[in-house]
Amino acid sequence: MIEDKNPQRTSIENLGEFGLIDHLTNNVELTQDSTDRGIGDDAAVITHNDSTVVTTDMLMEGVHFDLSYVPLKHLGYKAVMVNLSDIYAMNAVATQITVSIAMSNRFPVEAVEELYDGIKLACKVYGVDLVGGDTTASQTGLVISVTAIGEQKAEDIVYRSGAGDGDLLVVTGDVGAAYMGLQILEREKAVYKANPNSQPDIEAYSYLLERQLKPEARKDISKLLADLDVKPTSMIDVSDGLSSEVIHLCKNSEIGMKIYEEKIPLDPTVINACEEFNLDSTTIALSGGEDYELLFTVKQEDFPKIKANPSLSIIGHAVPQGEGIHLITRSGEQVPIQAMGWNSFKG
Ligand code: ADP
Ligand code: MG
Repeated sequence: MIEDKNPQRTSIENLGEFGLIDHLTNNVELTQDSTDRGIGDDAAVITHNDSTVVTTDMLMEGVHFDLSYVPLKHLGYKAVMVNLSDIYAMNAVATQITVSIAMSNRFPVEAVEELYDGIKLACKVYGVDLVGGDTTASQTGLVISVTAIGEQKAEDIVYRSGAGDGDLLVVTGDVGAAYMGLQILEREKAVYKANPNSQPDIEAYSYLLERQLKPEARKDISKLLADLDVKPTSMIDVSDGLSSEVIHLCKNSEIGMKIYEEKIPLDPTVINACEEFNLDSTTIALSGGEDYELLFTVKQEDFPKIKANPSLSIIGHAVPQGEGIHLITRSGEQVPIQAMGWNSFKG
């Protein structure tokens, strides 16, 4: 498919490693005050006024993405998003990234350019500087590792560990759509394999596909909460699925949780797609993953400040640790929540 989209094919060998780095990075703009030096020396130089937060995530072909249906530009964009999401989950502001790629020489230069178009677009939209990276050959497929760097006052950083009994559990946006987007893509891939002349039928699923292929990290939430004068007591981003993130928050904060099925925010297209695939939408919401929303707790007294906000859904409340972590179903049953989230070491 890469060949189809890129009639022009310049071999990477023509440029060589240094030529390629130069080619990809010569028009990188720096916009952050805290960036003293970006690409081009042995290391970047950054001066933050406050605490520095750092996170890394690696995406591996065949494990995290399938190039037969993921456009490279989207892949580059998403690789940045998954990292920025972790910075925002600390209630910090993302300021810089570095990008390391390993790829085989089956990739033409034009394909790597597409990947970098996505990376640079993400940098532009989210106001972060690309300040370095590494480039190497791979025998086993494409690997992209992004490191994101951010900044926040020490007292405003939010950890997974601060939730207390009675706190309200809040999730941003809606969940489950990215997973259903993946189901659609997998189905269309199978259809295409069986009949290469078939036209993909994806119009009705555009929201699901966008959530899977081009997720947006919640840069807005830190400011939204500051404007509402709310400081979360704990926070995590939803990358592996709601249930596994709730369990992380609960373990780190030494609390239990009750989550109400009827409160979990689902987009109508998720409900429709679940019906079509004969899947339970609550299960998908809890274990789907890749939503890149934020999940956090706030003190009960903050309820009036957040209750009417369309970006925020209150889905549960913390209970003492001994009471465990449960889903309260629509019919009032208590079901223990297990980690069913996405895990790259599972079969
Ligand atoms: P070194 O040998 O000192 O590690 P490199 O030749 O690998 O230096 O990199 C030269 C410069 O280009 C460095 O500033 C490095 O951070 C940057 N760089 C290398 N690869 C990438 C990449 N894939 N994306 C962005 N910057 C990169
Ligand atoms: Mg290097």
